[in-house]
Amino acid sequence: MEHKIVLIPGDGIGPEIVREAKKVLDGVCEKYGHTFQYEEALIGGASIDTYGVPLTDETIAAANSADAVLMGSVGGDAATSPWYQLEPSKRPEAGLLKIRKELNLFANLRPAYLYSQLREACPLRPDIIETGFDLLIMRELTGGLYFGERKTYEENGVWTAVDTLVYNEQEIRRIAVKGFEIARKRQKKVTSVDKANVLDSSRLWRKVVEEVAADYPDVKLEHMLVDNCAMQLVRDPGQFDVVLTENMFGDILSDEASMITGSIGMLSSASLNETKFGLYEPSHGSAPDIAGQDKANPIATILSAAMMLRYSLDLDQEADAVEQAVQKVLSQGYRTVDIMSEGCTCVGTRKMGELILKNL
Ligand code: NAD
Repeated sequence: MEHKIVLIPGDGIGPEIVREAKKVLDGVCEKYGHTFQYEEALIGGASIDTYGVPLTDETIAAANSADAVLMGSVGGDAATSPWYQLEPSKRPEAGLLKIRKELNLFANLRPAYLYSQLREACPLRPDIIETGFDLLIMRELTGGLYFGERKTYEENGVWTAVDTLVYNEQEIRRIAVKGFEIARKRQKKVTSVDKANVLDSSRLWRKVVEEVAADYPDVKLEHMLVDNCAMQLVRDPGQFDVVLTENMFGDILSDEASMITGSIGMLSSASLNETKFGLYEPSHGSAPDIAGQDKANPIATILSAAMMLRYSLDLDQEADAVEQAVQKVLSQGYRTVDIMSEGCTCVGTRKMGELILKNL
């Protein structure tokens, strides 16, 4: 099969980790007889240095013409980089927010998976994680409290601030459909998280999610209040498959879920729109402290590439192969410095990419 993929390496460790992910994708092409056409584009500081702005129309057009985008990371060291002398709308991270908006990426997916080989990094008690966990937080990304009307005003000498949490049924339906579709590719369970005992927006959320669920009788639906979900994530994370939730709840829960895996260099992510198109990137930042030193862990980016194979290109078998190759390399005892533990072999970015490719 032929696919067009736009690579946006970005800043800091971005070019190193995207280079390794491309190596693995090339291996997938060779093994399974696919052709991926690549185009490279700039974002963030790299784009500022070349064009004076963090995101150009050319990068947006390239992304729009592709089946998927694989991105590295964006940003530099705020204390030392000249990019942060610019006004906020011209800084590297502004490019990130703009590309998500321009591509209408309303669904954010962040898996949290416990690798048995990295159990020691998990901050939870051994008895809690005995059977592991493999969950995915699906967060609505373009609505809710972060996008509602807001104002701060003074009345009779008292300051008051207002933020508005708004969702319409179409916004809820489209993310719910994505959630159920993705659950079908996983363990077929959706936990819809809301605060329906208090919020009107949550009651509408629950009603629409139930309507959508009727079209997916093979997927189990349960509802959970957000405060309970925050507890359950540390009490028994193994109970979850897809956790479907609105923007702010998802923001908080996805960070909590990533913390319980204990290893930032392993966490992939995807942002999807209404079509099969998606933007895939590691959850971590550009790690300027280790950029260019062959120290960065490329696994989060390689796993993001696996998500791209699964969700945008429908190449599930190939995605499985990449994920299994990562497992094998960990089982063989190879680690980058961020996940290093006693008795293992410490390798650099390039070597880790090569090992994963070899184990495909
Ligand atoms: P960070 O995630 O870049 O780094 C935090 C720590 O984790 C650092 O010590 C770093 O060395 C380490 N780390 C991160 N990724 C790693 C990897 N793959 N392998 C090994 N170690 C890794 O967060 P930060 O330092 O707060 O931010 C640095 C820059 O990244 C800032 O400019 C920030 O705005 C940007 N950022 C970008 C994104 C994104 O592109 N989506 C996300 C978060 C932060």
